[in-house]
Amino acid sequence: MVATQTTCQYHPARPGVGICVKCGTVVCTECSTKFDGINHCAVCVAELRRDADEGQIAGPSRALWWFGVVSSVVLIMSVGYAIFHMLLLW
Ligand SMILES: [Zn+2]
Ligand SMILES: [Zn+2]
Repeated sequence: MVATQTTCQYHPARPGVGICVKCGTVVCTECSTKFDGINHCAVCVAELRRDADEGQIAGPSRALWWFGVVSSVVLIMSVGYAIFHMLLLW
């Protein structure tokens, strides 16, 4: 018989139902969290969430800012171009 840990790493009284794919910690239902459909312990999930949050703050908001700048410039240029053409035609 293989002696494996069958109780939660954080709750010795509770049975372990999952193993964290990242650190191999045995966790109970309360401690195991599905992150991207994979079992993770509370510690690793907190780490992953922090990384994801940091990535989100730096990523889309900056891209959105650039999108706003570029679209405003394009709008101003096209309006200016239209006015310029109207003046020429008049
Ligand atoms: Zn873990
Ligand atoms: Zn637990």
